[in-house]
Amino acid sequence: MFRDVVLGLGNNPVVENVIKRYGMQMGASRFVAGHTLPEAIEEVRAINRQGIKATLDHLGESVTTERAAAEARDSYLAMLEAIQQSGIDSNVSLKLTMLGLSFDADLAERHLLEIVEKAAHTNNFVRIDMENSPYTAQTLTLFEKAYAEFPGAVGVVLQAYLYRSMDDLRRLSSPPRNFRIVKGAYMEPVSVAFPSKADVDENYLRLVETSLELGNYTAVATHDEQMIGRVLKYVHEHGVARDRFEFQMLYGVRFSLLQSLAQQGYRTRVYVPYGEDWYGYYVRRIAERPQNLLFFLKTLVER
Ligand SMILES: Cc1cc2nc3c(=O)[nH]c(=O)nc-3n(C[C@H](O)[C@H](O)[C@H](O)COP(=O)(O)OP(=O)(O)OC[C@H]3O[C@@H](n4cnc5c(N)ncnc54)[C@H](O)[C@@H]3O)c2cc1C
Repeated sequence: MFRDVVLGLGNNPVVENVIKRYGMQMGASRFVAGHTLPEAIEEVRAINRQGIKATLDHLGESVTTERAAAEARDSYLAMLEAIQQSGIDSNVSLKLTMLGLSFDADLAERHLLEIVEKAAHTNNFVRIDMENSPYTAQTLTLFEKAYAEFPGAVGVVLQAYLYRSMDDLRRLSSPPRNFRIVKGAYMEPVSVAFPSKADVDENYLRLVETSLELGNYTAVATHDEQMIGRVLKYVHEHGVARDRFEFQMLYGVRFSLLQSLAQQGYRTRVYVPYGEDWYGYYVRRIAERPQNLLFFLKTLVER
């Protein structure tokens, strides 16, 4: 409910103006690792020193011109080059609407293949983030096309709030692939997504367990201690090797929990976004937690 209200308000131009104007000083900077790639690389270096890997995300989504899509592609090619040159331990995450998916799926496919090819040649990996449900089927199709050409260099995300995700997981797990499982961050109608948190949580665990059972490499992306505890119980009871899964969290959220998992010898990774186009990302983070909105409003009033 809170989530839907915030995500709905995020589409209001007045709210957007206020948040874009004051957001960086009032909370967004906590979730964003800098404006530029060099800044983000230094953040990743510090994270790596704690034994934690990263995935770099150049913020941006829903571009509407070929030029912006080509710029996004170039930024990812440069990012993969910079990761190799700097020696940091990081792969990359991207959104297909940043590569033009909303207006030209063929263009997005060409850009994606170029990026995944570069990742394969630099011994790296591209995670395709999952956006809102109008893009789910197309995202999975483009993932399969990229996987057919560069199987070790690409993975995708499945969202536990979608009814379809279990079917997608089963359909796409032969041969085993590399999935990140998340609860889901967008506003979705009840026709496609579980409305209740309890159902999403239950489906989340079923997806993680099924993904592991089917032999997939599984990224358990959540800050939910209860989910993490139950996944740990499952992997211990089923003797799942530690190199078959990893825990992932977002930059700026519950880092101490991730540190503690890293100290216990589990693979861990932080999702590190950077860049100027932080608005949509920040609104989704506010929507996940009432305290994040209170922090924003308190700082706004105190100005
Ligand atoms: C690495 C990573 C990649 C992701 N990629 C995608 C993607 O591709 N597509 C997609 O739809 N979603 C993605 N998400 C977001 C995800 O769908 C959820 O919206 C988000 O992770 C919050 O859900 P949760 O699993 O942490 O559980 P929740 O039940 O929402 O939260 C559990 C607890 O975590 C803490 N917490 C959660 N969110 C925040 C926050 N924003 N600020 C502070 N504390 C918080 C709180 O203590 C909360 O009680 C990703 C998440 C992660 C961690």
